[in-house]
Amino acid sequence: MSPPLRGEATSRLRRIAGNPGISQESPLSFVRLPESPIRCKNLVGGAFVDVVTKDTISVTSPWTGAVIGEVPMSRAADVDTAVALAKRASVGWAATPLRERCQVLYRFRDLVLRDLEMLAHRAASEAGKTVAEARAGILKGVEVTEFATALQNIPGGGVMEVSRGVSCEIRRKPLGVVAGIVPFNFPAMVPLWMIPNALALGNSFVLKPSEKVPLTAQLLGALLAEAGLPEGVFSLVNGGVEAVDTILDHPDIQAVGFVGSTAIARKVYERGSKAGKRVLALGGAKNHLIVTPDADVDMTARAVLDSFTGCAGQRCMAASVLLAVGDIEPVLAKVQEQAKNLALGSGMGAIIDRGALARLEAAIGRAESEGAKLVVDGRGKKPSDSSYSGGNWLGATLLDGVRPDSEAGCQELFGPILAVVRVKNVTEALQIENANRYGNACSVFTTNGAVAEAVAAGAKAAMIGVNVGVPVPREPFSFGGMGESKFGHGDITGPSSIDFWTHNKKITRKWAPQDDQNWMS
Ligand code: NAD
Repeated sequence: MSPPLRGEATSRLRRIAGNPGISQESPLSFVRLPESPIRCKNLVGGAFVDVVTKDTISVTSPWTGAVIGEVPMSRAADVDTAVALAKRASVGWAATPLRERCQVLYRFRDLVLRDLEMLAHRAASEAGKTVAEARAGILKGVEVTEFATALQNIPGGGVMEVSRGVSCEIRRKPLGVVAGIVPFNFPAMVPLWMIPNALALGNSFVLKPSEKVPLTAQLLGALLAEAGLPEGVFSLVNGGVEAVDTILDHPDIQAVGFVGSTAIARKVYERGSKAGKRVLALGGAKNHLIVTPDADVDMTARAVLDSFTGCAGQRCMAASVLLAVGDIEPVLAKVQEQAKNLALGSGMGAIIDRGALARLEAAIGRAESEGAKLVVDGRGKKPSDSSYSGGNWLGATLLDGVRPDSEAGCQELFGPILAVVRVKNVTEALQIENANRYGNACSVFTTNGAVAEAVAAGAKAAMIGVNVGVPVPREPFSFGGMGESKFGHGDITGPSSIDFWTHNKKITRKWAPQDDQNWMS
């Protein structure tokens, strides 16, 4: 195994991965954008390289609209080269003892924490998050990395005497080259749902970042190299549809983890499976909060607001529909007041791009014309700091009296918009939640244990909150939805991800020639 990179090699990789982008003189008070545009490269065989065609697209910051980078669009040939070198590297990495592989990830975890602020500002600049949100996402990635480093302490497989003089052993083996294809909304966290476990288990990993947010992944690649990961074991292929399709069809890629919208998740699952790969594809979501009249007013209002406005509603666990059971006016009044006063920039970040902003604004207009009451309208709001006037801004938006079968009531909008649907009782709330095609998260706000248990048992969603607005399970409890929020088996983190990134080899042994005849003799 290569020793951790030191000195010149490390600083060269870090230089290519982009300057820290932290300017103390920046007039921007919420997030420090890169001082100059960062030219992303692919990471192939341990080197940051250009793509064959030199095609690039610009990366703009949702905060200001400024160009902060450019990303290469890989062609099939670029993916082929990366996979060939990843395959070559996978032989030595698979043969490296688990404990040594975990040591690399220990160092990686420490380096991520060392560079936490740089990573957080980088992710915030490109994804439009607040720095606090970006930091929290990276720390979730650290949590998954810690799970991966602990794999060395969990016996994998086992041996058992299955007949007189005959034993069976089961061994966990890496798959070889595996890939991850990720969305824009968590530039570090979603890649880190996959990378640490897949690497610790002995695979080579090829990451295709979102072309909207490719800058943070450059730093992750440099940090993995600095941690001592052998060249070629982690690769970056930037790009769009051609890069994804090449990954899905590639005969030397054994498994693909995908996170993104449902339409693309379905395509990735079907195309990758047809090519004989293992695929786990996480899709979109429409998450429900069920609020009952006995809920604690202050705690509930705060949790509701945080859930639908955190990451400007651009997270797959964000609340999207509030199912108001009976009279919950005190909670709604507080949510309304806090939503109206939520400052853009300091309290909430920006929408990823102009197209998404226009789509959300149009959806608000359609909801109103379909009869919903626009209680708080976030359209046209801007941060008070004029440095951000070129950004993509939408304030928190609250719609009341939304029909459950309308667009705002049942489709993913992916913005800071909460649709309040009025229901008579918890049974009706559960019927609406169950009828939705997605199945990521559902939370109930109540002080009644029986109601909470009824929702925990009866909701369709795979991640349930009781008085928790964003019920992301902490590791080792795994992350994953159901319905059209997930295609494939198991979860993307936690124990089932161990199965996803490995296969089981079974060895049956008999050493002693014995007298007894049995079915194995
Ligand atoms: P997206 O589906 O547009 O893109 C995801 C990835 O797919 C990107 O890397 C992109 O380059 C690639 N891609 C896009 N179109 C493609 C095509 N036609 N063929 C092949 N590849 C293609 O998603 P996004 O807009 O980046 O992210 C937001 C979506 O991700 C939301 O729907 C959100 O709910 C979902 N998401 C889900 C989870 C989850 O855990 N379920 C987590 C985060 C985000």
